[in-house]
Amino acid sequence: MKFSGFKVVKEALTGHKGWQPLWRDPAPKPAYDIIVIGGGGHGLATAYYLAKEFGARNVALLEKGWIGSGNVGRNTTIIRSNYLLPGNQPFYEFSMKLWENLEQDTNFNSMVSQRGIVNLIHSDAQRDAYRRRGNAMMLSGAGARMLSVPELRDMMPFVNFDNARFPIKGGLMQARAGTARHDGVAWGYARGADMRGVDIIQNCEVTGFRVENGKVLGVDTSRGFIGAAKVGVSVAGNSGRVMQMAGMRLPIESHALQAFVSEGLKLTIPGVITFGAGHFYVSQSDKGGLVFGGDIEGYNSYAQRGNLPVVEDVLEGGMALMPMIGRARLLRSWGGLVDMSMDGSPIIDRTGIEGLYFNGAWNYGGFKATPAAGFAFAHLLATDRPHDTATGFGFDRFNRGYVIDEKGVGAQPNLH
Ligand SMILES: Cc1cc2nc3c(=O)[nH]c(=O)nc-3n(C[C@H](O)[C@H](O)[C@H](O)COP(=O)(O)OP(=O)(O)OC[C@H]3O[C@@H](n4cnc5c(N)ncnc54)[C@H](O)[C@@H]3O)c2cc1C
Repeated sequence: MKFSGFKVVKEALTGHKGWQPLWRDPAPKPAYDIIVIGGGGHGLATAYYLAKEFGARNVALLEKGWIGSGNVGRNTTIIRSNYLLPGNQPFYEFSMKLWENLEQDTNFNSMVSQRGIVNLIHSDAQRDAYRRRGNAMMLSGAGARMLSVPELRDMMPFVNFDNARFPIKGGLMQARAGTARHDGVAWGYARGADMRGVDIIQNCEVTGFRVENGKVLGVDTSRGFIGAAKVGVSVAGNSGRVMQMAGMRLPIESHALQAFVSEGLKLTIPGVITFGAGHFYVSQSDKGGLVFGGDIEGYNSYAQRGNLPVVEDVLEGGMALMPMIGRARLLRSWGGLVDMSMDGSPIIDRTGIEGLYFNGAWNYGGFKATPAAGFAFAHLLATDRPHDTATGFGFDRFNRGYVIDEKGVGAQPNLH
């Protein structure tokens, strides 16, 4: 089934009887060439690019719940490539380029909206740091612009510029950044992968790995053993738990992160805004709700829910930035599980077990990485070599001390 304007009109006139399911519901086969574990954005994108770019035909994706039940359907939908370090910036810019063509590529409306992001500046030192970041962005082709206070006042008059404690002194803008409909991204990749023969198997939890003579033979699941020559693990906040089944201890902590949505308001927020004096970021959904978030929970957890002190902290950030938010009613909030690494950067690498590969440690920001992470992980699974933009994301950087510490805060997951 192909989506087009013509198809929408035809279905509207014929009672919407011609829509078909977006993917099949196959039973697992006894064995596959490649198994991808985790039906989040990254796992689905990996399966999609494996089939589309690398010609893999015998691939299964195993998901313990349903597609989109993890972080891919729980995040605040921000996409951007405004990074500083050479290990990160080209990778996120590659991702941004894939976002820009995603809907044409998958023939699915994932509502990619390049409405821009502004990082607000509150001190002279922060201006220096953001100017440096902007230069790095321009060198990789990401584009960047410094904004003056008068420009910002025009753009976002509702922001508290004269807050005595956090005065606003300017902003760094990436016009190509924005938002995408998060579960629409999962569905688009799932449909594209399924069309190319990938078996998407939901309600199939991986419960163990079969390894013999240092080589992976397949996985035990809630639906029986499934053999595979190669297994790629892409389970985000559950990385520690799943890799423990293969005897690996990761440099990762899992924490809950919450997201919030207000009641629908008239169009107010021009794009994505981040508060530079605390941890608060906000955009507005197409339905009008203000979508915002802040810090992770301070304790380690595998529960997809957070606690009230962080709710209070996030809302304090919101009130300091834009006091008018205090008049909006909070409609809903939820939590997801983020896999925080010790340097704040991801891992896409082989493991010590032949045929077992890992993609994870996406911290606060793996949604924007979804296309590039899927592409790079598919590249690694298909060719056994890292993708050009992901060569810095190996496990060995923690042994060698070549960490990619974007924020410069050391091994403190709560600060990344
Ligand atoms: C509240 C919140 C806000 C966020 N905001 C942003 C943002 O604005 N921008 C951004 O870039 N990033 C954001 N992130 C981060 C981003 O959502 C994640 O980094 C990214 O979604 C992780 O990759 P994923 O989509 O593959 O994860 P998931 O969707 O979590 O996929 C992993 C899947 O693995 C499955 N799984 C786990 N264990 C097993 C098993 N044993 N067997 C089979 N399947 C298993 C899970 O059920 C899950 O579906 C946010 C995260 C949260 C929680």
